[in-house]
Amino acid sequence: MTTANLLEFDLEGLAAFCEKLGEKRFRATQLFRWIHQRGASDFAQMTDLAKSLREKLATTARVEALPVITQHESKDGTIKWLFDVGDGNAVEAVFIPEDDRGTLCVSSQAGCAVGCRFCSTGHQGFSRNLSTGEIVAQLWFAEHFLRKHLKRDDRVISNVVMMGMGEPLQNYTALVPALRTMLDDNAYGLSRRRVTVSTSGVVPMIDRLGADCPVAMAVSLHAPNDALRDDLVPLNRKYPIAELLEACKRYLAHAPRDFITFEYCMLDGVNDQPEHARQLVELVRSHNISCKFNLIPFNPFPASGLLRSPQPRVLAFAKTLSEAGLVTTVRKTRGDDIDAACGQLAGDVKDRTRAAERMAQRRGSERTVVLHPVRKTAPQEH
Ligand code: SF4
Repeated sequence: MTTANLLEFDLEGLAAFCEKLGEKRFRATQLFRWIHQRGASDFAQMTDLAKSLREKLATTARVEALPVITQHESKDGTIKWLFDVGDGNAVEAVFIPEDDRGTLCVSSQAGCAVGCRFCSTGHQGFSRNLSTGEIVAQLWFAEHFLRKHLKRDDRVISNVVMMGMGEPLQNYTALVPALRTMLDDNAYGLSRRRVTVSTSGVVPMIDRLGADCPVAMAVSLHAPNDALRDDLVPLNRKYPIAELLEACKRYLAHAPRDFITFEYCMLDGVNDQPEHARQLVELVRSHNISCKFNLIPFNPFPASGLLRSPQPRVLAFAKTLSEAGLVTTVRKTRGDDIDAACGQLAGDVKDRTRAAERMAQRRGSERTVVLHPVRKTAPQEH
């Protein structure tokens, strides 16, 4: 008999499941707490539930984590897991400890269909969407593993960023219940400001998320004009920068946070020149958008022909933005010794879709609009 994996449900979904079993909806809250707050997967442990309910659950439900293929721990405390999601597909989650927070980077898809040139996940192609349970399972496993590993009773993960493999807004129906579980006080209780959805710019879904679950928003910008962004982030051809920024403004009307974070991966000789910084300043001024910039050092990976921008150029770029009044940070590289940039390990497992070949063919047939000499080209995640 097939059983339901209870990680698939937000609280509302779990309440509906309990009702189907002939149980009162409030039982769902108790069950939800056992699963997410205490990390329980064995119904027999859940001693404050009636025995009759535990027996029903034992035959109709399960709490099933994703099998861990590998776990790598960096000298700086970063931990990266590669999870098996079946049929030769794998996804990654990365825990990044800092003094005042613990951040988990979570994947939303096995592979990604957007195909950004600087992204190793994009080069692996798209296999499938993750289910809500597979998204939540990354957090469930990481939180309860870390509590044991670090010998802590309190919450370890304080922030979640949907910045792993995949474009979260192209897996919207699975994403939203997963976000609700992260925010729920009976589960992880994360504040909306501490859960970030990072998107390459799926404009209609930005509007939907604003209405349904307005968590913090990061946008993978990576270029200050459409010609360059068309080339680096192919989705730009469908939703050009002006439309994207207007969607960001509409989002801010719902968002509890009053700015958008623009992610900008610094690619040597491609998008890191002084005129690019000046164009960015003009762009956000002309759209009058509350934002901050996060400059990301490119993480080269074996198949990549792109190079990381030299640090002095990154700092000069940051200075131009800062002097124009834009809050700008330069992301610290973490976990370099374990390839902690997402997509770097999963690609070693399997390239299921020959995406690299397809991308090479596509590039051969496309107009190249990059403003500066491009090394061969390639990726990073958003
Ligand atoms: S950067 Fe994000 S949207 Fe682009 S290919 Fe990578 S995972 Fe997909």
